[in-house]
Amino acid sequence: MHDFLIAKEIVDEVLRIIEEKKLSGVKRVDLEIGVIALAHDGFPEHEEDVSIENLQFGLEGVSKNTVLEKVEFSIKKTKDHNWKIVNVVVE
Ligand SMILES: [Zn+2]
Repeated sequence: MHDFLIAKEIVDEVLRIIEEKKLSGVKRVDLEIGVIALAHDGFPEHEEDVSIENLQFGLEGVSKNTVLEKVEFSIKKTKDHNWKIVNVVVE
């Protein structure tokens, strides 16, 4: 469940960075993902372990029809309690 919520947050943030830094030709986004606590659908905030596969799938879905559609997301799992955009790689 969290994979799509987190994917949406990540894509929004990457789009914000692209806009802010006026980047073009983004090729790859390097991410780190830990165990994330989120509230959704009336549930109180709780932690869920997000698998790289599910997040990858979520990111592809959320990126559709944006400038990130063809961008590769490289995801590394960490023990942090957050996600982090490590690098936005341009051509
Ligand atoms: Zn949940």
